[in-house]
Amino acid sequence: MIERYIRDVPDFPKPGILFKDITPLLANAEGLKATIDALRDCVSPDDYDVICGVESRGFIFGTALALSVGKGFIPIRKPGKLPWKTASESYELEYGTDTIEIHTDAIEHGSRMLMVDDLLATGGTMEAAIKLVRKIGAEPVASLFVIELDFLEGRKRLDVPTHSLLHVG
Ligand code: AMP
Repeated sequence: MIERYIRDVPDFPKPGILFKDITPLLANAEGLKATIDALRDCVSPDDYDVICGVESRGFIFGTALALSVGKGFIPIRKPGKLPWKTASESYELEYGTDTIEIHTDAIEHGSRMLMVDDLLATGGTMEAAIKLVRKIGAEPVASLFVIELDFLEGRKRLDVPTHSLLHVG
């Protein structure tokens, strides 16, 4: 059901990448609702206090899920976007490095966090996000994705239970 609203775009943003475009899914009311309902069923809301989403598509699914389960939402952003005091974590890309940031006072110490992004590829982004929330004293309890590219084995890098709605490859 969800799968039919994901558009494959070859060679975006660069040659050799098959980009999974979730915008048709977001545009479809039924598809969007089915996605958030399915995400909600993956991890019991009793097991986490707050949802943390990774810029930028993690914001969309993370916030919608937070609203649906009655929890708050915390953004992890690219450098220089958050206005208050931040903690940061850098991670390796194919060429060079990237950095993500979070507000140091985003959560109460020991809060249990559900980590959300749209897609798990190599796992580098989510691995860094998990390290980052630990840095500010939170406890990541699980990571949650709409799509997982199984052939990249990104979940091997994540030391929390990992759930995905769709598996590719
Ligand atoms: P990674 O750190 O390799 O797991 O990459 C995950 C991040 O990159 C997520 O925030 C995704 O939105 C994005 N991403 C990586 N590969 C793709 C792809 N094939 N299609 C869409 N988004 C992707």
